[in-house]
Amino acid sequence: MANTTEELESLLMQRSLTDAQLLDAAETASDFRILPDATLLKIGGQSIIDRGRAAVYPLVDEIVAARKAHKLLIGTGAGTRARHLYSIAAGLNLPAGVLSQLGASVANQNAVILGQLLAKHGICAVDGAGLSAVPLFLAEVNAVIFSGMPPYGLWMRPAAKGVIPPYRTDAGCFLLAEQFGCKAMIFVKDEDGLFTANPKTSKDATFIPKISVDEMKARGLHDSILEFPMLDLLQSARHVRQVQIVNGLVPGNLTRALAGEHVGTIITAS
Ligand code: ADP
Ligand code: MG
Repeated sequence: MANTTEELESLLMQRSLTDAQLLDAAETASDFRILPDATLLKIGGQSIIDRGRAAVYPLVDEIVAARKAHKLLIGTGAGTRARHLYSIAAGLNLPAGVLSQLGASVANQNAVILGQLLAKHGICAVDGAGLSAVPLFLAEVNAVIFSGMPPYGLWMRPAAKGVIPPYRTDAGCFLLAEQFGCKAMIFVKDEDGLFTANPKTSKDATFIPKISVDEMKARGLHDSILEFPMLDLLQSARHVRQVQIVNGLVPGNLTRALAGEHVGTIITAS
């Protein structure tokens, strides 16, 4: 090991930080997952929280029951209020970084809402889920809530076209799941999973139970149920090599997915 560290150190002093040999040398340590027992749940903004009580209460009950057996990192989406903000801000030609801050404020609101609903069960929302007290919450109450928007803020990398921030809450939640080496990532939305077309507008769309990122792209589905930059993040992930999308409006789906059942759609990295 000493030799490896020495080699890496000398490469780091001499080479560009993207040098191929340097990158190989930086890869030799064995795999390490920070929170290997945790599952990351993303609760949709538009698809779940914006529906209010009818959608949220049953899910809260499911989360409370599920955390007895599972460690849950719960990230929130933004949704309709964010879309309203984006339409105003984009109409004023404000840049992606500003829209990113506005979207984050709505994901924060949803984290506050969920935090209030789960408070009596000892589950609370944390500011900035970058770790801090997250492991403590997981150890004590098996769950913690965070705002799903990645904290790029003004530093958001703009998309090639337009001012809508490309990395929003799907990406934010996935990046945390991967960063922490979580055992699973489940997106809770309002459709049974991925379809051949948007089921809200195409009546003859058919359900796809399992698909890879490459197949999704080949079938023109890259910009559908998940934010499309998510697919590239999934493909280059080391730990979280698949994500599951379940319909949170159907009671029991989340519980079944947590138990490892194949409900909804599984999207695989390869
Ligand atoms: P969230 O609330 O997590 O932000 P979204 O509303 O952004 O979720 O994404 C889920 C929505 O994606 C579904 O409600 C559905 O209308 C839409 N959608 C678009 N294309 C597809 C597709 N091919 N299959 C399933 N859903 C799709
Ligand atoms: Mg969305």
